[in-house]
Amino acid sequence: LVRLFGPITQLSGLQETAQTVLVSFARVFELLDLKPLIQERPDAVGLEKNVAPDIEFDDVKFRYPTANEVSLASLEQLRTKQDRNEVTAEVLRGISFQVKSGTLTALVGPSGAGKSTITHLVSRLYDPNSGAVRIGGHDLKDLTFDSLRAAIGVVSQDAYLFHDTIRENLLYARPTATEDELIEACKGAQIWDLIESLPRGLDTVTGDRGYRMSGGEKQRLAIARLLLKEPSIVVLDEATAHLDSESEAAVQRALKTALRSRTSLVIAHRLSTIREADQILVIDGGGVRERGTHEELLAAGGLYAELYHTQFANPERYAAKPDIEDEL
Ligand code: ATP
Repeated sequence: LVRLFGPITQLSGLQETAQTVLVSFARVFELLDLKPLIQERPDAVGLEKNVAPDIEFDDVKFRYPTANEVSLASLEQLRTKQDRNEVTAEVLRGISFQVKSGTLTALVGPSGAGKSTITHLVSRLYDPNSGAVRIGGHDLKDLTFDSLRAAIGVVSQDAYLFHDTIRENLLYARPTATEDELIEACKGAQIWDLIESLPRGLDTVTGDRGYRMSGGEKQRLAIARLLLKEPSIVVLDEATAHLDSESEAAVQRALKTALRSRTSLVIAHRLSTIREADQILVIDGGGVRERGTHEELLAAGGLYAELYHTQFANPERYAAKPDIEDEL
């Protein structure tokens, strides 16, 4: 069972689910007298609902735990000398930045730079090795799991659907939602037309053995969940690789509603999102290499300008869809 803990936290598409099961895992670990790597302090406090949810990374250093550290967290006696010597590379090397409440920060940077790792630390899938991650001025280590989970909504590349009805998949985000609230969220997420066209509507069974949603449909259902949950912070991995242009336009419209006036940290792939961001952080080598707005960074002529010309400024892709570019 303990060996499951590591793989579960590594499944990026299951971030939110993983966080949910962490609480139950904590209980199992208690029973087994083992110590999980992430723990809720006995004196943990709830994040106040009305606090401005600024996000702050303060000189954060982080490396992923080794398999042994994950599975043998409290079984020091079972560690061999060789295990102790085994360490993974430092992914974040003293990174500091702030995301002000109600603003959008876009993370860009080369593959493997540490963008997803930053989002893992915001949702406290791991703790930093040193430094602190704070929300509303509170170190995440001082907050209850429940209040952190309620404050953060995650939309990742592969939204996870339970093998259940669309209704149940939505109610998971807000168990008390009324029929009207479900429909409103689906409309906001640009998925209502599809659901309405299905013979069983909201009661359609989805997942691998039911109605198989496309990548774009799954993402929009994840956005509907986000609208129902109403988190103050949104963490979004904006991959669009598997979306056709119609889906992509619908997802963009849905996101526009979902991100409005929330504190957002987005691993950005769309030029429109990047241009709209209040701040762009260019992540490289485990730190923030450049920061600023699109115009500022382009004028600086550094790594961002290079990434822009090689990745983002794809005239064929964006010129074909000027409506999308204008959306966000
Ligand atoms: P991409 O744009 O390709 O998604 P990224 O900037 O999001 O990349 P990360 O996924 O954060 O980069 O990875 C940063 C580094 O951490 C990489 O070297 C990666 O191999 C390593 N890494 C990521 N996840 C784990 C893990 N669960 N265990 C060990 N190392 C990991």
